[in-house]
Amino acid sequence: MSLLNNMGKKISGAGKVAIKASGNMMQITKFNLAIKSEENKIEGFMVEIGNKIFEKYKEGNTVDEDVTGNCEDILKCMKEIEELKLKIIDVRDLKKCQGCGAEIDKDDVFCSKCGSKVD
Ligand SMILES: [Zn+2]
Repeated sequence: MSLLNNMGKKISGAGKVAIKASGNMMQITKFNLAIKSEENKIEGFMVEIGNKIFEKYKEGNTVDEDVTGNCEDILKCMKEIEELKLKIIDVRDLKKCQGCGAEIDKDDVFCSKCGSKVD
């Protein structure tokens, strides 16, 4: 076999290795994407479990001892969100009707939506 011929064979061998490597990389990427997709599904199911437990807690049911603290924390966050929303309403010179929850002018005496007297 001539030297030139031999070199050609070596190059094509290297090319095959490179093609195989890039094929492997594509497969690995595909599998990693599939793993990510499954992990996202798990995350969703976890959230679903959490929501179901929290709903039970909110309805006054006894929930497992180790998640009671988490439920209390969620309630605290929800209260904080409500207070922050009220602050935004206040900054916008509005107030919330106690009757229907509508945002009305701060100076209004009666709710323009439900007619309730507001203070
Ligand atoms: Zn109202």
